[in-house]
Amino acid sequence: MNVRNFSIIAHVDHGKSTLADRILERLGAMGERDRRDQTLDTLELERERGITIKSTPVRLTYKRENGEEYTFNLIDTPGHVDFNYEVSRSLAACEGVLLLVDASQGVEAQTIVNAYLAIDNNLEIVPVVNKIDLPAADPEGAAKELEDVIGIPAGDAVFASGKTGQGVDDLLEAIVERIPAPPGDPQAPLKALIFDSFYDAYQGVILFVRVLEGTLSPKQPIMLFNSGKTFEVDKVGTFTPGLVVGESLPAGSVGWVAAGIKDIHDAQVGDTVTQKDRPTPEPFPGFKPAQPVVFSGLYPTDTEDYRRLREALERLKLNDAAFNFEPETSEALGFGFRCGFLGLLHAEIIQERLEREYDLDLIATAPAVVYRVTLTNGTVFETQNPAEFPTRDRITTVEEPYIKLSVMLPEEYVGPVMQLLQERRGSMVTMNYVGKRVELIYEVPFAEILYDFHDRLKSISRGYASMDYEQIGYREGELRKVDILVNNEVVDALAVIVHEDKAYSLGRKIVDKMAEVIPRQMFPVPVQATIGGKIIARATVKAYRKDVLAKCYGGDISRKKKLLEKQKKGRARMKQIGTVEVPQEAFLAVLSTE
Ligand code: GDP
Ligand code: MG
Repeated sequence: MNVRNFSIIAHVDHGKSTLADRILERLGAMGERDRRDQTLDTLELERERGITIKSTPVRLTYKRENGEEYTFNLIDTPGHVDFNYEVSRSLAACEGVLLLVDASQGVEAQTIVNAYLAIDNNLEIVPVVNKIDLPAADPEGAAKELEDVIGIPAGDAVFASGKTGQGVDDLLEAIVERIPAPPGDPQAPLKALIFDSFYDAYQGVILFVRVLEGTLSPKQPIMLFNSGKTFEVDKVGTFTPGLVVGESLPAGSVGWVAAGIKDIHDAQVGDTVTQKDRPTPEPFPGFKPAQPVVFSGLYPTDTEDYRRLREALERLKLNDAAFNFEPETSEALGFGFRCGFLGLLHAEIIQERLEREYDLDLIATAPAVVYRVTLTNGTVFETQNPAEFPTRDRITTVEEPYIKLSVMLPEEYVGPVMQLLQERRGSMVTMNYVGKRVELIYEVPFAEILYDFHDRLKSISRGYASMDYEQIGYREGELRKVDILVNNEVVDALAVIVHEDKAYSLGRKIVDKMAEVIPRQMFPVPVQATIGGKIIARATVKAYRKDVLAKCYGGDISRKKKLLEKQKKGRARMKQIGTVEVPQEAFLAVLSTE
């Protein structure tokens, strides 16, 4: 079969999108006229942030000099740790990968993590040293590093530049020659892996699949292995990258399926599509239902927007099986929603879309992980809402999620980075020398890297360190709930869970930040941090009489109006708590960096 299914993997910014575009252009998938940079990154937000959130596949035709024609399915993968599971499923849809390394940067943390993902999936790796046009490029050095670190022979590397197009022809030949044709019997019972999906208002959920065995065609009754749900195939097709309707998808193909699926949770990434009356004996292994790990409360600043917020959340959820929400009430913030995300980036993306696409003003509470609490009466429960955390006298133990963190960095920064990891309650597993660089493997509480860890890591290593992580389960810890009082009243939405050793410094940081961001009121406002009723830090918002209108001596009504409007705008992201107006920054005080 003249098909090659592959993906491009790389550390962020090593030129994946640019090279993909060059390949598309070379194979005529993009007219020079409507060429836009980075065609595969579709969402507007992705373009702005320069990250790939959804995996977009594209089908291409490559004609060799001898006239042989090949179908290439290039599957793009998300480029952020929050979406690692989706990356692994996209890779499972391929037989090979192009592993890019920036010729001026060499091997980085995600180069290694991605290479191992490819190896775990038994994929053929075509090493590509990219950006060879850069003056600082050291292609031989980068190839040597691939050999030293990952064990890929330096002589196998293809030298290329996505910018100039140099080496792209060699690369296309390498794809044909080195990546194996997909196996599979089109007559066998159907077995197709879902590697992505999206919701379409007319067709329902569109599944992106790799057919491993059998053939997918319209009218076929199908069953989803893990959800057990059954449907009838409506349409199948391929990507150009737009969706094109086709006749059938035989084993080896990559394409899409519409089957009138209304709920994205019935057909999740990683699940296996099979024929209802002739199921495959074994589904594709390793299915993991999408599971949020970071939670935050979202509240409309204007209570009138509650319904609109719910509708917007429902619409986002239709398209995102990894996102969930449920109603929540806060004494301080009123009615809102507790939302679950894959990570902080995922949370930021959803909040930004709510504000941008749905024009909502929101207050978000500090992100929290899921804690497992064993009570003195023996019951165990999980909570991701600090406001619900039981008082200490009712708790026997608390466990928190841990991650295995891998940090790659130049040797000279090892000292400060190890110190940072120590501050974050990390414990070292191993330290490996990788050429001139060091790989540190640590076990760290997930909560400790949630907020500013990545920024701190970058700043103390002058941008040279990079990181990746995976969840490794729960461990016991001395965790406490810190309550925050504004004007002597506990504000439930401001509570945070923190390790005992850090409670004082965190309490200090939060009250100082709050005193700084809460606008002065007519009276002094005390802000306090407490643990079990005991005050651990306090600060005061000074009194100030802010009589703006007095400034426009009588007469000018329109000027008065303008001023009032201006004040109202400034208040958009404020929440009235008792008699005090508290701005959004106060709720995220815990996230602020010193
Ligand atoms: P991605 O994060 O791996 O998708 O990387 P991008 O394709 O977005 O590229 C990251 C940056 O490197 C952008 O500023 C590109 O313009 C630049 N870049 C990508 N490929 C090349 C190349 O071959 N040569 C040079 N000089 N710059 C490149
Ligand atoms: Mg990209």
